[in-house]
Amino acid sequence: MEHANGTTFCKETAKECLSALRSFQDQFVGSESQVEALKTVAGWLERLQRGSFSEDEEPLDENSRVYLQSYRDQFTRFSLFERGHGELVGDSPKVAGITRERSGQWRNPALAAELEKVEDWDAFDVFKVAALTGGRPLQPVAMAVLNCFDLVSTLRLPEKKLQNFLRGVEDAYLNNPYHNSTHAADVVQGLAALFANNPFTAQLTDLEMLSMILACVIHDVGHPGVTNEYLINTNADSALLYNDQSINENGHAAVGMQLLRKSSNNFIEALPDEEYRFVRRTIIGIVLATDMVGHAKLVKDTTANLRQLGPDLQKWPEEKKQRALQMIVHCCDIGNPAKPLKYSLQWTERIMAENFAQGDRERREALPVSPLCDRERVDVPKSQLTFLEYVVRPCFEALRALAPETAAIALRNIEIGRRHWEEQPRRNASSTMFPLDDLR
Ligand SMILES: [Zn+2]
Repeated sequence: MEHANGTTFCKETAKECLSALRSFQDQFVGSESQVEALKTVAGWLERLQRGSFSEDEEPLDENSRVYLQSYRDQFTRFSLFERGHGELVGDSPKVAGITRERSGQWRNPALAAELEKVEDWDAFDVFKVAALTGGRPLQPVAMAVLNCFDLVSTLRLPEKKLQNFLRGVEDAYLNNPYHNSTHAADVVQGLAALFANNPFTAQLTDLEMLSMILACVIHDVGHPGVTNEYLINTNADSALLYNDQSINENGHAAVGMQLLRKSSNNFIEALPDEEYRFVRRTIIGIVLATDMVGHAKLVKDTTANLRQLGPDLQKWPEEKKQRALQMIVHCCDIGNPAKPLKYSLQWTERIMAENFAQGDRERREALPVSPLCDRERVDVPKSQLTFLEYVVRPCFEALRALAPETAAIALRNIEIGRRHWEEQPRRNASSTMFPLDDLR
């Protein structure tokens, strides 16, 4: 009989599938109903394998059939890894996102150890996760964060579609030195640290938390590695499309929402219309607010709202609460200089490499070289000090009222960063400072 997912379940297939499912079951951590559905599937496969009935005589109930379809790929692949036919590393996100060993550890011990720290602002090493996943850290980090706050089970999100969506988004990130899926994973993880350790989280709904995480996931997807100004100056198609307004950010939101709308990816399609529209509206608002052009107004609005309404977001009217969500994600987006120095220095190298590549293009195209993009002239320590003092620090100071614990850690790191950059000799950056070849 032709199965709905295009496979025929003869005795042999059932046998193979069952053995894969058993290994997978041992590692699976999910809701009670998911565990039950997997047990039903296993029992059905066992009887089918013994030949006690044919699939036509006793069809699988609908719920279990959905699980069989959703998970078959995953447990079959998992079983291959178990038998040593493949390395979990590099090809693992699809599996790593939903499987743990009995002890609560992820399959790959190093990846497991890192993902266990996903709620820790200082300890989590996103570069390590990128290395362990062959440069694809976004999917496992996003899954870890969604599961960490029980959003997959509470909102009953279909995991197969969710995984498809995350994989599609990760594929759509370009291989830029800075604006790549490692940066997106870093922003998602920063948000997880804020959620885990601060009082404002209790004032958010599950849908608000989901929207914020998804906004972080897509917030730079398809980034071309050049600034909005460059796109305007070169008459890029995207500048025409978006009338020179937040060109990159409009593009990220549009690409992200298009990927979500694909039926194989749309894991929120079952939400009631009003909730679906809320998620879409919130994500778009947050992504557009990542444009640095709106930075000063966002900080000013949040500070004024906090002064007027106090720190309990439940008391804020809808529109102002949306601004707070935008501010929190914006802090995560520009938060890498507020991470421990060993990580923030890597981010500096990456952003400067991307800026300088743009400057080189501008020079080749006889355009004026943008201020932070000229490798012959930019004083990196000075530009970092300016960014820290005038952009990053005010953001985290404003965030203190909502997220005191993480803001305190971030402000301490900012201070360490400031001392580091003050000690650096003020000289023009040379191209050799930035090992482009080492970047993914
Ligand atoms: Zn970003």
